[in-house]
Amino acid sequence: MSEDTVAAAGPAGETEEQVLPRSAEETPEGTEISDMDIVFDCPYCGHNLAIDYRGAGLQVMCVQCGEAVSVPIPEDMHIDDLDVEPGEILKQLFKTRRMLRDAENRIVELEEALDAANARALESEAAMEATYPVRAEIANLADQAVIALRRIADLTAPPAPAAGADSAAAE
Ligand SMILES: [Zn+2]
Repeated sequence: MSEDTVAAAGPAGETEEQVLPRSAEETPEGTEISDMDIVFDCPYCGHNLAIDYRGAGLQVMCVQCGEAVSVPIPEDMHIDDLDVEPGEILKQLFKTRRMLRDAENRIVELEEALDAANARALESEAAMEATYPVRAEIANLADQAVIALRRIADLTAPPAPAAGADSAAAE
C-alpha cells in the first residue's frame, strides 16, 4: 500500500484546499499530535479528534461518525495568529457568515421540532428520549453560532491593535 493515499473523497464541488480532522485516539501507528493541533471531542460520538490550528472555527466532518462538527477556537487564539492573506480573510468571513446563518436557521427548525416532540413527550418516555438528539444538535449549533460570531468579530477587528494604555479610561 502506498503511504500517501490521503482519503480525499470530498463532496463534489468543494475542491479548495481543506484542513481535515483526524482521529486523536490511539492507533497502531501511534498518535501524531503536535503543538499546532487543536484537539477536541466530537459532540455527537465523543471521538477524540485532532486538526491543524488553521481549522479553528471551521466546520468539519467527524472521522468517526461523519457528523458535521465545528472546530473550537482556542481561547488564546486570534485570527491575527494565522498568517492569511486579506483576500483569504474576506473569503473566510463570508463562509463564516453563511455558516452562522445556516446554524441560526437550523436552530429555529430544531426548536420547532423540539416543541412538537416535547408535546408528545408528555405522553411517553420513549418520545422524551427522542428529543435528546435534537437537544444535542441544538446545543452543538448554538456552540457553532458562538464560534462563528467570535470568528466574525476576530475577522472584522482592526488588524493591528495599538498596544496603548486606553484601558485606564475604564475607571
Ligand atoms: Zn463523531
